[in-house]
Amino acid sequence: MTWLDLVADKALHREPPTRDEALAVLASADDELMDVVAAAFRVRREFFGRRVKLNYLVNVKSGLCPEDCFYCSQRVGSAADVLKYTWLKTDEVIASAEAGVAGGARRVCLVASGRGPTDKDIDRISATIEGFKQRNPDVEVCACLGLLSQGQAERLAAAGTTAYNHNLNTSGGHYADICTTHEYADRVATVESAKSAGLSPCSGLIAGMGETDEDLVDVAFALRSVNPDSVPVNFLIPFDGTPLEGHWQLTPQRCLRILAMVRFVCPDAEVRLAGGREIHLRTLQPLALHIVNSIFLGDYLTSEGQAGSADLAMIADAGFTVEGAPDAPDAPDAPDDRAARTGLVHVRRRGAGTDLPANA
Ligand code: SF4
Repeated sequence: MTWLDLVADKALHREPPTRDEALAVLASADDELMDVVAAAFRVRREFFGRRVKLNYLVNVKSGLCPEDCFYCSQRVGSAADVLKYTWLKTDEVIASAEAGVAGGARRVCLVASGRGPTDKDIDRISATIEGFKQRNPDVEVCACLGLLSQGQAERLAAAGTTAYNHNLNTSGGHYADICTTHEYADRVATVESAKSAGLSPCSGLIAGMGETDEDLVDVAFALRSVNPDSVPVNFLIPFDGTPLEGHWQLTPQRCLRILAMVRFVCPDAEVRLAGGREIHLRTLQPLALHIVNSIFLGDYLTSEGQAGSADLAMIADAGFTVEGAPDAPDAPDAPDDRAARTGLVHVRRRGAGTDLPANA
């Protein structure tokens, strides 16, 4: 039995690896890469079979943020070329979200730039969520609105919100290197408020921001300790006009190791391949499906992902099935037929952009 078999066996029993084992996954040699993927796949298959959950982002408010998150092109003073607009109207949000649902998304993620919502913002987004849920009662709604004040999570839950996303992003020790306008503890507190209100906690990380392997392991264990239902893993797109411009430090192989480490630390969480997957994993994206069980469909907040039809084709070609699809888990159709039938020939957000998910 290899050390990776032992790590996978523990994960199958929902036990985390030791810190040294998690570090060893990140430091594993290229010759071991397929063994790492295979071990992570054992865990993924145990808890999620071959299903892939599709999520769809709607950028309900873009740019003009007073915070200074170094990775974000919507930050204060950003010179990045992003769309800037205040809250979309309810019918605009619903129309955009329903395009993702038509493509197979089981969850829509309503994301607003900014430090956090005002109570008036909560009124507005609650009305939107209620309107969407009346028309799409089976579709999950995740809100991602920044730091929450007292009572706001409860109001979102009362409006029918399923989940709340607020990422820890990086380790507590590295946090001051990526943001100076709020603290790591603020982020943890918002995840805890969402949980207390009965919202499904969604919290993840961004890799590639100058962190060490120890930071990555720290944030993975910190995420395990807040017990999120879903863990988005973003890979930094170092956009021009941000402090992390030109900061390229990831390879496709490293991205796979990071995803596997997160899978071992949070074995039964929905691990979601999020921003930066196309640009960093490139042709290795299908291998990542053996580790993660969830992706964003189509575009991100202000950056383009690959076309939704390409996502569906990739899932089918790799032998996986879309969660909740009428024909899952049996053999998928030819990708073109499937994309046409779902109506998702090409889900695209307006404006080519430059950003990672905000409030990531
Ligand atoms: S991540 Fe969110 S809070 Fe930070 S600068 Fe971007 S929009 Fe503002």
